[in-house]
Amino acid sequence: MNCQICSSKELTHVTSLGHHALPDVFVTPGEATEPFTVYPLDLYVCERCWLAQIGYGVDPDLLFRDFVYTTESNPASQPHFARLTRSFIERFQLGREDLAVDLASNDGTLLEQYGGDVQILGVDPSSATAAAKAKGLPTIVDFFTEATAKQILATYQPAKVITTMNAFAHIKELDAFMTGVVALLAEDGVFVSESHHLQNVITKMQYDLIHHEHLRFYSVRPLTVLFDRYGLEIFDVEETETQGGSILVYAGRAGVRPVSPNVSRLLEQETDAGLYSTDTYAAWADRLTRSKHRLMSLLYNLKSQGATIVGVGASAKGNTILNYCGVRPDVLDYITDGSELKQGKLAPGSLIPVTTDQDLLDRQPDYALVLTANLKDIIIRKLRGKGYKGKFIVAGEVPSVE
Ligand SMILES: [Zn+2]
Repeated sequence: MNCQICSSKELTHVTSLGHHALPDVFVTPGEATEPFTVYPLDLYVCERCWLAQIGYGVDPDLLFRDFVYTTESNPASQPHFARLTRSFIERFQLGREDLAVDLASNDGTLLEQYGGDVQILGVDPSSATAAAKAKGLPTIVDFFTEATAKQILATYQPAKVITTMNAFAHIKELDAFMTGVVALLAEDGVFVSESHHLQNVITKMQYDLIHHEHLRFYSVRPLTVLFDRYGLEIFDVEETETQGGSILVYAGRAGVRPVSPNVSRLLEQETDAGLYSTDTYAAWADRLTRSKHRLMSLLYNLKSQGATIVGVGASAKGNTILNYCGVRPDVLDYITDGSELKQGKLAPGSLIPVTTDQDLLDRQPDYALVLTANLKDIIIRKLRGKGYKGKFIVAGEVPSVE
């Protein structure tokens, strides 16, 4: 096994989270009596470039062609992308002739925010693009590679801005993707990626980010190694609230733009947080095990006292919690989710039935385990507003009840 960025064989095995079913492939009641495939989910860290990564990469066709996640299902996306696209237009002085390309454009939520002020184009292999096409947003339905870049350049000018939001860590063929980015990018173009920040996985115990769609956990150092290989340079970084704590990384061709002091500042912060030391990861693996024991002892105690408990939010992250901790239908009666693509099905691996939020309000279980911890404030406010009277449990290093 080689590092996904620097190809080094010096990978330290941090921990195993067990074998997991694919986190976004929900099971029909008919399939529930059939055997299903599980894949090893192990975290490694590279001692040369310090990329944290999972060990087994699932065929992307299995993961993403029938993708049930839509950008607009996350209520934080639209205002965030509106702010970002405005800032790109101003900072990089984009005009009506300039092209902005979004890679992994999903339902087109980001592209829409440009509001007709620039030319837009999306590329995404998943079925979520049907919604973008229905809105009239130009979209190429395919994985992005150098061939896609050439196809685009046959019609368009090189791109002034290329974005990939919460998807850069999902790309298995990273070299094919980066070759495409470099081919498509204008000389003074900017490649902006937003990815969950490894520092939060480590310091805030956000282990639910570890699932088979999420191959890599980024920090500044490994990204510098990656971009350097393609003649790109990180010229600015910004920490954001997305997905419970992400980094926005701005890269351009080396030497074209002045490098902000934000870059060295974040690198220093990551070093202080221990991201570039194997001891941190060994300690983290112990903390992870203890967090599982705490959550399960809370849930089993409540169950043994006769409490009713359900889950809220049948997300890929939630499925990591359920499958790592071994939560099954004898603990959670059901999981509620707003997506009609998931309702009436069973969560992958745990086979806990998925139903609507209305069920939670009608049946008023004693406890609701929040399975999308990154959206916990929004979810708790929404369900309280609708009249849920029970208590919420939020998983984490120490589970909280509120
Ligand atoms: Zn490496």
